[in-house]
Amino acid sequence: MKFTLIPLWAIFLNALWALTALPAWAQHSHGKGSLQLSLSGDVLQGQWTMPMEALLGFEHLPKNAAQSDAMNQLQKSLQNASYFIELPAESKCQQLEAKAQSDMFQGIKGKGHSDLNYEFKFKCANPQLLTQFAFPFFKSHIRSKQLKLEWVSQGVQKSATVRSSKPTFSP
Ligand SMILES: [Zn+2]
Repeated sequence: MKFTLIPLWAIFLNALWALTALPAWAQHSHGKGSLQLSLSGDVLQGQWTMPMEALLGFEHLPKNAAQSDAMNQLQKSLQNASYFIELPAESKCQQLEAKAQSDMFQGIKGKGHSDLNYEFKFKCANPQLLTQFAFPFFKSHIRSKQLKLEWVSQGVQKSATVRSSKPTFSP
C-alpha cells in the first residue's frame, strides 16, 4: 500500500506547493505590492515586492536619459530602507541590510512586466516600541496604491492592506 500512497502524497504536496508559491508574475498587479514583515527578537525583517510600473511608470529597460536617471535614483534611494519604511524613532533600529533586486537593474530585457524585490533587515534596541510603521515611498511614487501586508511576531500573524491614502500599519 505504501508504494502507492507515497507518490500520491508527493503529487499532492507538489500541487499544494505550486498553489501557495505562485510566481511573482501571477500576483503582478499594477499599483499593488506585497510586504512580509516579521519581528524575531530584536531583528525586524521585511520582503517587499512591487511592480516596477508603480515605482517608475515603466517596466522595460530605460529608453532615454530621463528613464535611466529615474531608475538609478530609485536604486540609490533604496540603499536606505527608511526610504520605504519608517520606524518609530524610540525603537532605535539600525539597518543591517537592504537589497534591491530587479531584472531591470540587471539590464535584463523582460517580457513585459517587471517587479522590484526588496529585502531589508533592522536590529532594534527597543523592539517592543515598534508599534507603528509608516510607508513614505507612497508619496514619492504616486502610482503605488496599496500594499498587502503580512505581519508575524512571536507566532502571531496579522494581515492588513495599507493604502496610499493612509500609509501606516499598527501591529
Ligand atoms: Zn506590469
